[in-house]
Amino acid sequence: EAKNAGKNQIALFDAELRAARVLRTRIATGLRRALVGEEFALYYQPVVDLATGDISGVEALLRWIPEGGEPVRPDAFIPVAEETGLIVDIGLWALEQACADARRWHGSHGITVAVNVSGRQLRDETFGDAVLAVLERHELPRHVLTLEITESMLLATTPVETARIVETLTRLREHGVRIALDDFGTGYSSLSYLRTLPVDILKIDRSFTTPLTDADHQRTRAFTKTIVELSASLGLKTVVEGVETREQADVLRQMGSPLGQGYLFSPPVVAGRIDEMLRATPWKRAA
Ligand code: C2E
Ligand code: MG
Ligand code: MG
Ligand code: MG
Repeated sequence: EAKNAGKNQIALFDAELRAARVLRTRIATGLRRALVGEEFALYYQPVVDLATGDISGVEALLRWIPEGGEPVRPDAFIPVAEETGLIVDIGLWALEQACADARRWHGSHGITVAVNVSGRQLRDETFGDAVLAVLERHELPRHVLTLEITESMLLATTPVETARIVETLTRLREHGVRIALDDFGTGYSSLSYLRTLPVDILKIDRSFTTPLTDADHQRTRAFTKTIVELSASLGLKTVVEGVETREQADVLRQMGSPLGQGYLFSPPVVAGRIDEMLRATPWKRAA
């Protein structure tokens, strides 16, 4: 009896694994086609100055829009893109597109553009040169570009790979490119990564923002405030992610956090909407 149940479970497990593998293969095929067929798009989310309401920059967020379909969010396909190495080409496409848009926005409003990068891209030895070449091609001042990295990207790397990634980031930073540590506070050793990695900007994860205004979240508030202060004392710029309510924005401003990002200000939108927002700056009037 027990033996049979075990066998059945193993069979079920096998079937699930097979199904997962089939799905992965299908996504990988789709991603290859998407690159050729130009099915990727960048959406942009404003990063807002909490004191003035001005847009200080935007973050590029990748979407896959299969023909005739709805936009697919990155969590559904980035892992496969990383496994297959397709992220290297997809990432270059994103960098190129973001810099083209950044040129326009920086020229008219002086704002910065942040692009998310995976560990797989950073491990590629040509990455640093590729970034500098794209900036040059678009005649963009280097400080206009921020690369967003996460500590989790270093989890699966060997010490040698980690050293090379740090070297690449250090070199880009010496050239003026800004580095942001994304999703800060969610990993196992955020503080040690903060010491290891060359960074300019700290993005506090939205799991700290959501409970910020709950009556019984003294501890979250103390944590968030401490990170904001730590960031400032290290001379870093702080961005708080996932600001959804006016109350959260108020608490954060009182804590001394200069910048926020979240649905309160805007969800990620198509590039044309950013053009409109920059022309109108609607929340400047509201603030
Ligand atoms: P992230 O870089 O931490 O981006 C923030 C995510 O939070 C985005 O999800 C954004 O849409 C969402 N968000 C923004 N404001 C709010 C809010 O107020 N409330 C809530 N609940 N969510 C909010 P998205 O666009 O699905 O991206 C997910 C992740 O995918 C990103 O997290 C980033 O790690 C990764 N990603 C996005 N674009 C790229 C890319 O071009 N390359 C790479 N390698 N990764 C990317
Ligand atoms: Mg990010
Ligand atoms: Mg984040
Ligand atoms: Mg994230």
